Amino acid sequence: MPDTAKLDVLAIAAHPDDIEITCGGFMIRMADLGRKTGALDLAAGEMGTFGSETDRAAEAAAAGKILGLVYRHNLGLPDSAIEVNQPNKLKIADVIRRTQPELVIIPHWEQRHPDHAACSCLAFDACFLAGLKKLDVDGEPFRPRKIIYASYFRNKDHSFLVDISDWFETKCRAVAAYQSQFAEEVTARRILVPGVDIYEMMRVRAAALGQQVGVQYAEAFTLKEPILYDDPQKMPGQSV
Ligand SMILES: [Zn+2]
Repeated sequence: MPDTAKLDVLAIAAHPDDIEITCGGFMIRMADLGRKTGALDLAAGEMGTFGSETDRAAEAAAAGKILGLVYRHNLGLPDSAIEVNQPNKLKIADVIRRTQPELVIIPHWEQRHPDHAACSCLAFDACFLAGLKKLDVDGEPFRPRKIIYASYFRNKDHSFLVDISDWFETKCRAVAAYQSQFAEEVTARRILVPGVDIYEMMRVRAAALGQQVGVQYAEAFTLKEPILYDDPQKMPGQSV
């Protein structure tokens, strides 16, 4: 994949596989629409119980192909020790300037894993900083127009849902590319809830979200700013 690419959508997450699990369906849907999509992973995942750093890099590349990404990069920050500091913000700002995405997807700010929370904060600040003319980073000043927060399993305050019914199975294939994390013999030792593997968790979550908007499967996102609506009468969805 290229070092630089002009993107429509850039997803940023702490670990390889976070993007696939939280917004993989949306990313595949965007790629199918002809949008140029990319992923930035902050850490290589070397602190995970299973799989080496090399395994996870190969898996991320394979998963990226299934997502239809034109760009994927890993910053190599220390796994489980990602710090919110200026140097890390500048590393992300550098990628934002290189890829100039209109839309950036970052993790919801409320998180159990400290890396996910750090990533949310770093990525938001980097989007702002990338637009400062005097920032000590190569390239022209650039700010993404829109930032949306991907919902992780525990987040509930969704602003909108995206129908991923036609893309759910492909999303599962992208997650399955992380063999070191989710192969059957691994999940047997890595049970999240008795008898429930990652695919079951994703399916239950996506189906429960989809049910709220009358589709089979959906992914959820949160916005910090309100949406301007000219014609609320034509707003999609049903209240009762
Ligand atoms: Zn993660």
